[in-house]
Amino acid sequence: MAATQENASRTVTLIPGDGIGPECIESARRIIDAAGVGLTWEVRHAGESVFKQGIPSGVPQDTIDSIRRTRCVLKGPLGTPVGYGEKSANVTLRKLFETFGNIRPVRELPGVKTPYSGRGIDLVVVRENVEDLYAGIEHMQTPGVAQCLKLISRKGCEKIVRLAFELARSEGRKSVACATKSNIMKLTEGLLKRTFEEIAKEYPDIQSWHVIVDNCAHQLVKKPEQFDVIVTTNMNGDILSDLTSALIGGLGFAPSANLGNEVAIFEAVHGSAPKYAGKNVINPTAVIGSAIMMLRYLGELEAARRIENALFVTLEEGKVKTGDVVGYDSGLATTTTAFTDAIISNLGREPKTIAPRSYKQLNIPRVSADPVSVRPQQRRVIGADIFLESGLLPDKLGPALETLAEGSSLKLKMISNRGTQVYPDKGTLIDCVDHYRCRFVLRDAAASLQDADLLALLGRLASEHRWVHVEKLVEFDGQPGYTKAQGED
Ligand code: NAP
Repeated sequence: MAATQENASRTVTLIPGDGIGPECIESARRIIDAAGVGLTWEVRHAGESVFKQGIPSGVPQDTIDSIRRTRCVLKGPLGTPVGYGEKSANVTLRKLFETFGNIRPVRELPGVKTPYSGRGIDLVVVRENVEDLYAGIEHMQTPGVAQCLKLISRKGCEKIVRLAFELARSEGRKSVACATKSNIMKLTEGLLKRTFEEIAKEYPDIQSWHVIVDNCAHQLVKKPEQFDVIVTTNMNGDILSDLTSALIGGLGFAPSANLGNEVAIFEAVHGSAPKYAGKNVINPTAVIGSAIMMLRYLGELEAARRIENALFVTLEEGKVKTGDVVGYDSGLATTTTAFTDAIISNLGREPKTIAPRSYKQLNIPRVSADPVSVRPQQRRVIGADIFLESGLLPDKLGPALETLAEGSSLKLKMISNRGTQVYPDKGTLIDCVDHYRCRFVLRDAAASLQDADLLALLGRLASEHRWVHVEKLVEFDGQPGYTKAQGED
């Protein structure tokens, strides 16, 4: 991945992070400085220490200001302590600067024995980084029922899909697989699949295919060498990329880049591993790998190659090995500092058993800044799903709602509980909770629902029931913008 950004600066914001973060970051910084790259480091903070100062976001203003200036961050992992801040400072940082693409490469490494050694694993997970369930929009719908909104946009899908294909091109990769759960979540996960299939046509030089994400996990364990680039939604990518890191030796070896149009943040896939903090035993390779990705991004291709080669030589020769590779209690494990020293002493050497990949400049896609990405010719509201908190069972709730809707333009079509139709009763066996989706549709199937009619119905329902939220049922250009409940005809 090489992406010389016009706005890239030689000053980099350095966030040491929490737990093992400072040790990993110090290792990477020493190696970069020893390679003579000449970066200026602007040290700033985020995460646990900031939460403890009473800053609930975990990201202070002077860190935000620094990143706005430098546009480039090398960071250690940040812990998310229970009881201080509510949100992960990591996710906040990624989202504050719209780093929409999380690039997580894994490659079989010399000297790192795994059950997959010799299979030639060399793949990249391209994970959408700011949308999906990680939009973090959560509400208690009733005192006992929680909801998290899975927000996926056409624009977000286009950005991540284009980034995956551009990355494939820049690294000379042959195929991009799109991993989704579109068979179940047809509108959200399906949007990524549909966007992928559309945009893939613009990249005829790259083979493209879709895989259901659960099978992708299965295939990754069974035959990981079949994958080249995998593009996927945020949560799928989070899980799959921890899996892929295990294939090449574990989290200690998995680097990542968070790329946006304005800012890039480089960090390991792993977290702050608090049990190892301050012990000088952890493997800094993941952060070093992230720093190598950063150097390529900054256009420092030669320095990136030198450091990567020195890392490969160190692993290949195996004179020093960290505890995650040989066992912390084996008596064979080296310290983080000694491992770093070995890499520095190997600068200028070439590995014998692994060839460095050649990288071309990565074109980070810039799609229109217009918030509207799809403009339908027609839209028609055909009804509404009204969500109620109710302790009634469906056989009581259904008739009560039908009575309330009498004389209005809407009629009750069905009620579902956690997505499955419970009224009208189909003789199924469902253990209901106090959260019902009540689907009302227009009695006149050719009409379009007016807000006044919906509000009037809500007013009637509110007189006897507690409504919690409402979703309009909209058709865009004749296509339903909603899905059916399980069991709904
Ligand atoms: P973790 O910190 O990634 O650690 C999980 C395990 O991975 C460790 O116990 C260790 O395995 C291994 N490991 C991780 N990094 C290693 C390294 N550099 N060298 C050797 N082994 C390493 O995951 P966690 O314990 O679930 O999370 C701890 C905290 O980190 C949480 O507060 C979480 O929110 C945060 N987190 C931050 C980020 C980020 O900043 N990007 C990412 C993930 C999690 P063994 O126990 O098998 O030795």
